[in-house]
Amino acid sequence: MIKKIFSYVSIFMMMVLFLTACGQANTENQTNQSSPDQTVTENQLEVQEESSQRETEAEESQAAETEVESHQHTQKDISEIKVVEGKPVVTATTTFVSDMVKVLAGDFVETQLIIPAGEDPHLYETKPQDLEKLSQADLVIYHGLHFEGKMVDVLESLGYDLTRDFPASQIGNMDQDGDLVVDPHFWFDIDLYKLAVDNAQNYLQALLPDNADTIAENAENYKAELDTMIKECTEKMDSIPKESRFLITPHDAFNYFSREFNIPVMAPQGISTDSEVANKDIQNTVDFIVENKVKAIFAESTTDPARMEKLKEACTAQGFDVEVVSGEGRELFSDSLAPEGSDGDTFLTMFKHNVDLIVENLK
Ligand SMILES: [Zn+2]
Repeated sequence: MIKKIFSYVSIFMMMVLFLTACGQANTENQTNQSSPDQTVTENQLEVQEESSQRETEAEESQAAETEVESHQHTQKDISEIKVVEGKPVVTATTTFVSDMVKVLAGDFVETQLIIPAGEDPHLYETKPQDLEKLSQADLVIYHGLHFEGKMVDVLESLGYDLTRDFPASQIGNMDQDGDLVVDPHFWFDIDLYKLAVDNAQNYLQALLPDNADTIAENAENYKAELDTMIKECTEKMDSIPKESRFLITPHDAFNYFSREFNIPVMAPQGISTDSEVANKDIQNTVDFIVENKVKAIFAESTTDPARMEKLKEACTAQGFDVEVVSGEGRELFSDSLAPEGSDGDTFLTMFKHNVDLIVENLK
């Protein structure tokens, strides 16, 4: 509420400044305010634009800046990472972080995981044994951008985030119930994911100075693998004809994916799973599916598949038959990798699994 008032006051101030400036300066002096922030927001909302009421762009851009600024928090200094005797313990909040740590320094550390595969990090609350894993670890690494929504305080005081120093212009902002919030699902943008690898590399090198060269080499090799993977995925995604390029998912986790592959996305639920799905949002999604004759919609491994079945029923009631892609091995991975030992249990195989599933069902 206070943020809102602040934002309105800021908008008013900006308008006053703008009108004053107009009086003094000629129009060629008008600065081009289509900041990258705004471009990102516009791209992401491309689909929603048709179906939901939007604030004016000025308001949006102002609110986005406020949100990104307010997100910045006091970060622990890397110099606080201490070198220890023996094999250090690294605690990772999610399967993504754990996978990355294993790729970069698997031979040198013992990895502990907080949020098990398949559980929803937006809603996960720390249990007493987690606090132990966090406080006794030699290094704690987490996503940040409020992905681990209920663990923010403990993580900011004990850990190091993968999203440290991400360029604000690259971070997506999304409308959630009228508020603009930071979109935490950055890993579907490979450039951002590589920045996360750099951050993890820095943290692990500080913990393991004797193995710094090997960690750097592992990071370089991994980034080369990511480049190859994304090239193959782009070719596959490009094979989906334009008229079928719509990705409908339960919660709004694929906006960076949308940007990476130029495919419009829509989800009846917002960015975090921590909100009730409004009937209005469901109806908007149903209308969108029927109007665009969307062939298939997708369930996720971390949210209830029944939600997509409800969408299907509503489409059927409007005389349109849409397929729900769900069931074991046929769910998209958005907020967790697959359980260890199954397809999609690493970032690379998870990404390929998602792309193959999408291409197979939309092509
Ligand atoms: Zn999510």
